[in-house]
Amino acid sequence: MNSRAQEIAAALANVEDRVTKAAASADRKRSDLTLIAVTKTYPASDVQILADLGVSNFGENRSDEGSEKSEAIAATWHFQGQVQGRKLKDIASWASYIHSINSVDHITKLSRICSEKNRKISIFLQFSLDGAPDRGGVHADQLGQLADQVAVDPNLDLAGLMCVPPVEYAFDRAFSEIAKVHSAFKMSFPDAVGLSAGMSSDFEVAIAHGATHLRVGSEILGSRAYHP
Ligand SMILES: *Cc1c(COP(=O)(O)O)cnc(C)c1O
Repeated sequence: MNSRAQEIAAALANVEDRVTKAAASADRKRSDLTLIAVTKTYPASDVQILADLGVSNFGENRSDEGSEKSEAIAATWHFQGQVQGRKLKDIASWASYIHSINSVDHITKLSRICSEKNRKISIFLQFSLDGAPDRGGVHADQLGQLADQVAVDPNLDLAGLMCVPPVEYAFDRAFSEIAKVHSAFKMSFPDAVGLSAGMSSDFEVAIAHGATHLRVGSEILGSRAYHP
């Protein structure tokens, strides 16, 4: 192992250990959690190192980067960046999961793309706790309308919800509000139980509050030079 591989292996083992402990203290099974390594800005060689260490889920924020790396490394690829309608077709060519769907138009467009390509894509609907549109998610009140549209669409799978807490919220407050929205959502959409929440700074709190898909970047790969 070269030194970068050793560094990544140690960081991954540390995250994995914390995930396991957080799951145990929340009385949840590790196997019910998916750890997505967010590899944005990091080279394909780092993705390869993680794949060799057994990581099978990767997340990217930009379609060109995701496309390039997914061509080099076969895995389950996730897109969690801000969606632009004109990029949906590109994103759909490599991502199996899109975590950041927040509009009727994007759902309609994605459905058409999936039908043309004869493939299914899984969707997380992104909401924001304060409803601020610049955070990329809809207000929780609008989730039902979007979910109804996805649920009846034969080309799309409704995986669940995604949320990035506002920076000014304390983690506990943010995640208890997220958990409330998630429980109410699951009553209406019992087949869409996923909750994509939890990043490097808060994945343990997220696990305690029911997150199923953790999107962790810098705790595994180190702090990024820039944040797309
Ligand atoms: C970058 C990013 C992550 C990973 O963030 P870290 O703090 O590096 O773990 C997760 N989710 C989204 C939406 C991101 O943009």
